Amino acid sequence: MSAAIIDGKAAAAALRARIAAQVAELMQQGVTPGLAVVLVGENPASQVYVRSKAKQTVEAGMRSFEHKLPAETSEADLLKLVRELNADDAVDGILVQLPLPAHINAELVLEAIDPAKDVDGFHPVNAGRLATGAPSLVPCTPLGCLMLLKQLKGDLSGLEAVVVGRSNIVGKPMAALLTSESCTVTIAHSRTRDLPAVCRRADILVAAVGRPGMVKGDWVKPGAVVIDVGINRVSAPELGEGKTRIVGDVDFESAAAVAGAITPVPGGVGPMTIACLLANTLTAACARRGLPKPA
Ligand code: NDP
Repeated sequence: MSAAIIDGKAAAAALRARIAAQVAELMQQGVTPGLAVVLVGENPASQVYVRSKAKQTVEAGMRSFEHKLPAETSEADLLKLVRELNADDAVDGILVQLPLPAHINAELVLEAIDPAKDVDGFHPVNAGRLATGAPSLVPCTPLGCLMLLKQLKGDLSGLEAVVVGRSNIVGKPMAALLTSESCTVTIAHSRTRDLPAVCRRADILVAAVGRPGMVKGDWVKPGAVVIDVGINRVSAPELGEGKTRIVGDVDFESAAAVAGAITPVPGGVGPMTIACLLANTLTAACARRGLPKPA
């Protein structure tokens, strides 16, 4: 293996410590940022995420408001809660955990969130601001990827970046952020022709696909930085019968032999996502009150 392993766990811990210090400073001005997380139903993965978000919010010194609603909650009741949270001055950030039950129109709910409190950055107003280069709340996963990249390389200007995946949650905002950093950006997807050749152009290769181990070592330009966003649960008979493990969208062994640096899965992009949620809550708390963000 030649690649440096990008330690997302350590980067996230450092970011959380920075945020905790900034929150402490803000509290001296009488402001305690608050994050409301809404969970509808009993999806086990969502329950784990929500628990972890609440724990880290409190550890950073912020207020956490958890709203756990039964799976049969109506769309109207969920929209009513969102409107109440919009109006609640103690709440700076609102996150509605996805996926929502099938009878609820997720788009409608996300669009009901006040863009100033939209710490997931999924509201069309924030997506539009990001696309036009205006200040906005940026989706947490791509924001975390960008932080890792800047920490590693500093100035990204002029680099060739290839983002595989064009979702509104990861691929598109990632491409917008890299464009703002003056990278030359290609967005690849399921219809891209000769994907391996496109990927080989990349100085920065971001994989956000949802296909275990799809990106192979011979798709990677020697020395490139590889950011693996994928979280895929695969069966792992080597760990015992019925066992599973989490792998990324990149075939780690072969890619690490060629890349200059690479994020592992787990321990790469994942931990940065929640840390960036806290960062967005702090940003929202300051912006709503017209306060500068503490240094
Ligand atoms: P989506 O399913 O919304 O999007 C996947 C994208 O990959 C689509 O644009 C799709 O193309 C593209 N794609 C699918 N198959 C291929 C292929 N064979 N070749 C090229 N492109 C392909 O997924 P998300 O963006 O929401 O998530 C992507 C991955 O990131 C998942 O594994 C998810 O679990 C993970 N994730 C991780 C997070 C973290 O915190 N680390 C947070 C969010 C997601 P098309 O548009 O043409 O269909």
